[in-house]
Amino acid sequence: MDISYIINELGEEREDYFRAIAPPIIQTSNFAFKKVDDLRKSFEDEYSTWLYSRGLNPTVEILRKKLAALDGAEDCLVFNSGAAAIFAAVLANIKSGDHIVSVKSPYTWAQRMFEVILPRFNVTVTYVDGCSTENFALAIQPTTKVIYLESPNSWFFELQDLSAIALLAKQHNIITICDNSYCTPIYQQPIAFGIDLVLQSGTKYIAGHSDTVAGVLCGKRQMIERIFNSEYMNIGSGIQPFNAWLLIRGLRTLPVRLERITRSTYEIVGFLKAHPRVEKVLFPMDPSFPQYELAQKQMTGACGLVTIFLKAESAQTIELFCESLKHILMAVSWGGHESLILPKCAGMKPENFDPKNQDHRSLRLYIGLEEPAYLIADLLGAFESIASLS
Ligand SMILES: *Cc1c(COP(=O)(O)O)cnc(C)c1O
Repeated sequence: MDISYIINELGEEREDYFRAIAPPIIQTSNFAFKKVDDLRKSFEDEYSTWLYSRGLNPTVEILRKKLAALDGAEDCLVFNSGAAAIFAAVLANIKSGDHIVSVKSPYTWAQRMFEVILPRFNVTVTYVDGCSTENFALAIQPTTKVIYLESPNSWFFELQDLSAIALLAKQHNIITICDNSYCTPIYQQPIAFGIDLVLQSGTKYIAGHSDTVAGVLCGKRQMIERIFNSEYMNIGSGIQPFNAWLLIRGLRTLPVRLERITRSTYEIVGFLKAHPRVEKVLFPMDPSFPQYELAQKQMTGACGLVTIFLKAESAQTIELFCESLKHILMAVSWGGHESLILPKCAGMKPENFDPKNQDHRSLRLYIGLEEPAYLIADLLGAFESIASLS
């Protein structure tokens, strides 16, 4: 399906709402019926009628159609956060006694679920280095029901070979779930590689303006319908109509935003690689990236997030660098209009900082929609502020 069609037309029945170009926000909790029999049918199959907005809602419906098509999926559910999408996808495919193989260091709240919530229900997890498919094969047990992937990871960008792992999982009847937040369907389509469920944080590039939290989950219709009738309805964390409307608006400019951010990213990566205070730059589409070949094989692009390792003897140097930036904001998240910096050392106690540990000296940069020269000037100023410090 043509991407311009998906973004501008698919799902939009303008004759139903005064031929308005922008779809209405159907801000209602419930829907009225004229016939008892229609109400009865709706109770029997809530997945095909407007009954109550914890289930289906017409504004959300437009968004679901577009997001499913972008991922090349049969169907889609949109949640109130990416974390909720992760939770529903995993919960729907495990029971007590089951086992999960997960890539090591998945997104924080996926890891919390694996380590804090699931053990209470006798579900165990093995973490593997996802850079080698063989590690997944070795970790599979007779009770393994889910392989959880995140490719690329959002800090150090480790990739997994999606088609090889999908094939392995199918041989063992294991469901594969992949967090695709970094790439979005614009730059990677895990379903085409045989992955069963693909999710992303809609908070990032889909919303794109740092004003909404949302999560997207796509897969085969049968699986998505099963999740709708159980986890989605029961957890009750479906996206609300206004937020769905913001995501539809975000989608209009998704390709153009990524195109711009991609160009800026290459320019800024070039600048960072040449700077003497930068020990190393990590970016999946840079030829120096350890898994560059795999990135080229399964991704059509990369942008926005870049991790740098500063040459620094103390956490204070890194802190001064971050605090000297005038335009690049210090904050979590990414995917919005504004550029951001996030130092790894903010997640640890100052006394545990070890300059010999490269990871402690890492900073994650998100490149937003500003002019690249404006961002480079800001970075230069911060480098100057630490020039006299080791
Ligand atoms: C932000 C993020 C999530 C979680 O999404 P929320 O919308 O914040 O709940 C999941 N995975 C990755 C890689 C993320 O960056």
